[in-house]
Amino acid sequence: MYDGDIASVLITEQQINDKVTELAKQIDDDYRDVHGDLLLVGVLKGAVMFMTDFARALPRPAQLEFMAVSSYGSSTSSSGVVRILKDLDRDIADRHVVIVEDIIDSGLTLSWLLKNLESRNPASLEVCTLLRKPDAVQVDVPVRYVGFDIPNEFVVGYGLDYAERYRDLPYIGTLDPKVYTSGI
Ligand code: 5GP
Ligand code: MG
Ligand code: MG
Repeated sequence: MYDGDIASVLITEQQINDKVTELAKQIDDDYRDVHGDLLLVGVLKGAVMFMTDFARALPRPAQLEFMAVSSYGSSTSSSGVVRILKDLDRDIADRHVVIVEDIIDSGLTLSWLLKNLESRNPASLEVCTLLRKPDAVQVDVPVRYVGFDIPNEFVVGYGLDYAERYRDLPYIGTLDPKVYTSGI
């Protein structure tokens, strides 16, 4: 699959599985006094793999919602100016909401999303991201659950794309520089 395009595997399928289980247990524990279904909000498309694995690993009932946003800027960096492409189907007022994200880089997308969802008056709002890059610490976004802190490199796989490719890889890796220059 994608022969020669992946320069290195950063996080293996097994490491992802173990981390998803660990995060699910931690959240299950932290929400033990909360009654009713949790509401998971996945951010399309990058968080799809994490969202579906996480929901299945979570030992308590959760409802799944998706949002699609686009941040203006180049394909590899974000500007913080966000537009909703697909909004939630339901009201989240008085619900216990967990935003499920693939990766936080500058944190600008997430910062906008948190403000937006907070204004809809959920009972609680937390963030669970599989990956976090070093720059994220500069922006003051409260992220309660983080799978892996990774170096400042562009990664693909397990939902994350480059030009819509590689989302279907079961692991997370870096791309060979030739991919960026070949123009798919
Ligand atoms: P932020 O607003 O935190 O800078 O950007 C977050 C979004 O940028 C992510 O949801 C993702 O779509 C994209 N992004 C940031 N870093 C990477 C990366 O290393 N690989 C991929 N494929 N997308 C990234
Ligand atoms: Mg994302
Ligand atoms: Mg992308």
